[in-house]
Amino acid sequence: MNSNIRLLLCFLFVLLISQAYAQSSCLNADRNIRIGLVSQGLPTTWKIEPSTGFIEIFDEKKKQSVYSGKAAQIVISAMKGGKMKVAVDERKSLYYFSNELLFSPVGRPPINLKVSSGGKKSYSYRGSLAVSPQKGGLRGVNIVDIEDYLKSVVPSEIYNRAPDAAQQAQTIAARTYAVRNLKRHSGSENFQLCDKVHCQVYSGIAREIKLATKAVKETNGKILIYGSEPANTVYHSNCGGYIIDSRAAWKGSPVPYLLGHYDGVSGQKPFCQYGKLIKQNQKTEKLPKPQTSITISKMNAQSKKATHKSFGHRVGMCQDGAIGMAAIGYNARQVLAFYYPGTKMATMNYAVNGSEPVETPPIVVAAAPRPAQQVSLVAPPNPTQINALRRNSKTVQSNRSIKDTLKQIAASRNDSAATSLRKIFWTPGQPGISRSIY
Ligand SMILES: [Zn+2]
Ligand SMILES: [Zn+2]
Repeated sequence: MNSNIRLLLCFLFVLLISQAYAQSSCLNADRNIRIGLVSQGLPTTWKIEPSTGFIEIFDEKKKQSVYSGKAAQIVISAMKGGKMKVAVDERKSLYYFSNELLFSPVGRPPINLKVSSGGKKSYSYRGSLAVSPQKGGLRGVNIVDIEDYLKSVVPSEIYNRAPDAAQQAQTIAARTYAVRNLKRHSGSENFQLCDKVHCQVYSGIAREIKLATKAVKETNGKILIYGSEPANTVYHSNCGGYIIDSRAAWKGSPVPYLLGHYDGVSGQKPFCQYGKLIKQNQKTEKLPKPQTSITISKMNAQSKKATHKSFGHRVGMCQDGAIGMAAIGYNARQVLAFYYPGTKMATMNYAVNGSEPVETPPIVVAAAPRPAQQVSLVAPPNPTQINALRRNSKTVQSNRSIKDTLKQIAASRNDSAATSLRKIFWTPGQPGISRSIY
């Protein structure tokens, strides 16, 4: 073999390897999260119907495929001794698995799994279903892309006809909450978040609506950070006119962006009263004009007497208030700047295109509140300024490496913890699955 041919073969080999690598990196699972379907308890049977008619069953422990092929229905039953039985179309039975199995539909998207667990009601989920024996029953865990998860969570958490800006603010709050709480169920439980109100309500595809899906796409990967960590973006239904300090609700140390304040502009009705009007479809009352700056009246730990009936813990974002703000004309950034003052917006690395994940530099949406009693919130940028900021951030992003950006953030805040920002954001495959087949 002459050297030219050898060189060519070598080149082809490298090309093949790099193609395979490129493909595997597109198939990475680092956007996936594990949602424990605890609302279905620990049933003794799970039935799965893949929408494509094909399934791959994968043994996570042995890292090997158990079954791959046609399947109209799979029945998984709990057996004695902490084992489970798997039957594919009542023909092939694969007995006695004691560890987690991953059921992934195979084929062209849209892919979903119709799942039922003993009861009559079935649910459809995107992604895969992991099933493992637990305490005499079977635990079901939906392994789903975090953005798909949000498409179902947002409509469960906010008024379905809320204006765009409120849907977007809710989506960013819910995404941040999920990212921040990925270890909420760690330990003996084999999932990251549950599907109940304890974490965020999630019931699969049936709950999705167009408006929320649009908001998820428009805010792809956006979260709020404080310092180098995702902010604690708690939210509630209606604050009754005054947001209360997190210490008044739960004790603990003060959180700079969860302080008590009037839910509105001084001299006007609270935002949530306007929000309620929108929900009740009462258009008779004239809405005020959006302000260029809002002074957060008083930030202290005391709760004040509510102007109307409140619902929820009254800390963080008031959802009816967000609806009111959106109806008045405030955008999602302004809503979030008002309810979580001092936080910054950032983009999760998975949402940035390119083989190497890149952090977008966080953009300041509001001045951090000082401990002083009277704090003025700098007006969030108007649409023209936001566009300018976006253009600017795109230039910054393309010209700087992740490290440089993080260094710059750290220097600007004199906070060395920011250099670990990337680690906190997302660890690929951990503790989610390390493999996905679609
Ligand atoms: Zn939970
Ligand atoms: Zn309110």
